[in-house]
Amino acid sequence: MVKADYYEILGVSRTADEKVLKTAYRKLAMEFHPDRNPGNAAAEARFKEIGEAYEVLKDPQKRAAYDRFGHQAFQNGGGGAGGFRGDFASSMADVFDDIFGEMMGQRRGGQRSSGGRERGSDLRYNMEVTLEEAFAGKTAEISVPTTIQCDVCSGTGARPGSGAKTCPTCAGAGRVRAAQGFFAIERTCPTCQGRGEIVADPCTKCHGEGRLPEERKLAVNIPAGIEDGTRIRLAGEGEAGLRGGPAGDLYIFLSIRPHEFFQRDGADLYCKIPISMTSAALGGDFEVTTLDGATTRVKVPDGTQTGKQFRVRGKGMPVLRSAQTGDLFIQVSVETPQNLSRRQRELLEEFEKISSSDNSPQSTGFFSRMREFFEGLGEN
Ligand SMILES: [Zn+2]
Ligand SMILES: [Zn+2]
Repeated sequence: MVKADYYEILGVSRTADEKVLKTAYRKLAMEFHPDRNPGNAAAEARFKEIGEAYEVLKDPQKRAAYDRFGHQAFQNGGGGAGGFRGDFASSMADVFDDIFGEMMGQRRGGQRSSGGRERGSDLRYNMEVTLEEAFAGKTAEISVPTTIQCDVCSGTGARPGSGAKTCPTCAGAGRVRAAQGFFAIERTCPTCQGRGEIVADPCTKCHGEGRLPEERKLAVNIPAGIEDGTRIRLAGEGEAGLRGGPAGDLYIFLSIRPHEFFQRDGADLYCKIPISMTSAALGGDFEVTTLDGATTRVKVPDGTQTGKQFRVRGKGMPVLRSAQTGDLFIQVSVETPQNLSRRQRELLEEFEKISSSDNSPQSTGFFSRMREFFEGLGEN
């Protein structure tokens, strides 16, 4: 069997650059993809051929070898490029992902059924809420620019009483053929978008669209405990479908505004509070306001150090769709007094004089311990 020329397979000239190759390849691969031609062996063979041609021509080394030796360059043990068939399938995979993505996108956008009904688009609405709102939950009023079915033509796009006529561009086939290099390519008809018929007398209110723009007001229930990035789907609240097709969905993407005092980690909340040196030394009680607006008392024992964390059970965030609640962690930092008056300085100096190593076990002798540690290392 004589193999077809790789350039001819892709319908490009021998001087085609990388971009031209890729574009040609993608068009053809989409056209002959087995997914689009189920049970069609010829299309499948063509699809493989296209992939093989592109695999060689996209690689400058393989392409140079092909230009010099033709298909022989890749026969068994042929010039330097041997074994490339082995990785053929794996290296094709990444390109196909790409194309699959596109095809999926196309399919989603054009979910057509008979009669040209088309599902409306999904809509995305970004909403920012405060941590307090995420804590308590709320009902938010939003206004969404969307489309609704035209009331005059009931979504058909045709003036009431008028019918449809066969599309003059494709004569009702819904597809048109166009020459593309080596191949004749079939495409969806641009006039009727594949429906095969067009509206004979368009509705005057919607100009044949079948739907009208509308600003819709919706009340959205935001449950307590939502997290940053939570997505709420409101089925059927997206754009109206075309010609009686189902409406799309509305997705609300929630983001939570950073809070001035609380950081969140899952259901737990973290809060840093500064306490005075004397409170840390003598101990005391603090009142912390929590997200529910209540206050909670935190007892700090005497001799509390910076970084010490206190846990207040059940004062964190509610867990979505559950009766559980996280905890609140309060971390203290001890503030060293500044701007001392003469009297304060005297008192502290006096305090220092009567202090012993028991009062500050960590700092007493720290530098000599550190020195000894490193000297000890030197001896070993
Ligand atoms: Zn209308
Ligand atoms: Zn048509």
